[in-house]
Amino acid sequence: MISSSHYTPEHEVFRTNVRRFIERECLPNRKAWQENCAPPHELWTRAGEAGLLCPKAAPRYGGAGGDLYHCMIIIEEQTRACFNELAFYLHSDIIAPYIELYGTEDQRTRYLPRMITGEFTAAIAMTEPSGGSDLQAMRTRAVREGGHYVLNGQKTFISNAQTADFILVAAKTDPSAGARGVSLLILETADAKGFALGRNLKKIGCKVQDTSELFFENVRIPAENLLGGVEGRGFYQLMQRLPEERLIMAMSAVVNMEAACDEAIAYCKDRRTFGKRIIDHQSARFTLAEAKTTTTVARAYLERCIDLFVEDRFDAEAGAMVKWWTTEKCCEVIDNCLQLFGGYGYMRETPIARRWTDARLGRIAGGTNEIMKDLIGRAL
Ligand SMILES: Cc1cc2nc3c(=O)[nH]c(=O)nc-3n(C[C@H](O)[C@H](O)[C@H](O)COP(=O)(O)OP(=O)(O)OC[C@H]3O[C@@H](n4cnc5c(N)ncnc54)[C@H](O)[C@@H]3O)c2cc1C
Repeated sequence: MISSSHYTPEHEVFRTNVRRFIERECLPNRKAWQENCAPPHELWTRAGEAGLLCPKAAPRYGGAGGDLYHCMIIIEEQTRACFNELAFYLHSDIIAPYIELYGTEDQRTRYLPRMITGEFTAAIAMTEPSGGSDLQAMRTRAVREGGHYVLNGQKTFISNAQTADFILVAAKTDPSAGARGVSLLILETADAKGFALGRNLKKIGCKVQDTSELFFENVRIPAENLLGGVEGRGFYQLMQRLPEERLIMAMSAVVNMEAACDEAIAYCKDRRTFGKRIIDHQSARFTLAEAKTTTTVARAYLERCIDLFVEDRFDAEAGAMVKWWTTEKCCEVIDNCLQLFGGYGYMRETPIARRWTDARLGRIAGGTNEIMKDLIGRAL
């Protein structure tokens, strides 16, 4: 793996801590979690104790006040161990910033410290059975009644919902106002009357992490759980956060293709056919050369995007570009690497097979790649 040039010695200490945590707490449990289709809640409290959750959160809420590189290190270490399906980044780098950036002070002090320790785990629910790309067409409704919102509707494909203590739910508070009628509400799941978890959906990949249906029937949410306390800001909040989310997805894609490349090179140096190592067959060597080149270009592009992000110059189009391109290239590189493993490449027990199925999600989640191109095209 090519390391980011921005890592400090402190980042490397953090990396050692993350690596040990994954080796100790995650790897021995892969099979059990896969069978259960979800990691247990205590994984989160253990991760919190080890300092892995919300590393960027401000110290006044109990966070370490870290940066994007801490997030990158967690992704790198998860990917190295072929465990990138665990939704640490969803909890820490996607949901916690909504609370920190847009929440009221009461919301920050209630949720952030608990997210950092892992006492509270979180999910975010935007997608509905009728569609995820066209968010403005969502049907879930939240109607204000006195001191509460009454929530009705359905969501699907929601990651981490099985063990979530709260779910950030996108709902229409004013259906006549288009994008300005969407709000985000914090639904605490314990004893929430009218809230039901549907199936934990069976997926082709990312089998350790749960993905669920949600149903809301007259669920009463206290009005103070409206994110930020002002109605109609949900769509704006979602759009503001998407570039960073897409950059994080690109990080995962690049690191995943780097890992696949390294694994394929090692395998081709070890396995022999027709009296020589696979890497000594020219066609295999060319495949590896192409994979290595694509991966190197992707890493350079990613580093450029990280620099733009740090300089506060990373916009919606930049996020869409890096997300679609790296996730497409990731699938291409991993597919070509898998071929070099022959039959072993098709066995789920081999990391390359898990990378292949898990990487496919990158082209769909976080906004499909077609939507990314549409977004870029509209800005031309
Ligand atoms: C494992 C997994 C985890 C997920 N986790 C979450 C989560 O935690 N929270 C959450 O809210 N969502 C989550 N999602 C949902 C994900 O974000 C959506 O699946 C995605 O946004 C696409 O929405 P859709 O599935 O409804 O497809 P649709 O919107 O129905 O799109 C279907 C197809 O039509 C194409 N299409 C649609 N509109 C256009 C257009 N204008 N131009 C060109 N092509 C178009 C799409 O690209 C796609 O190929 C998850 C999904 C998966 C698979």
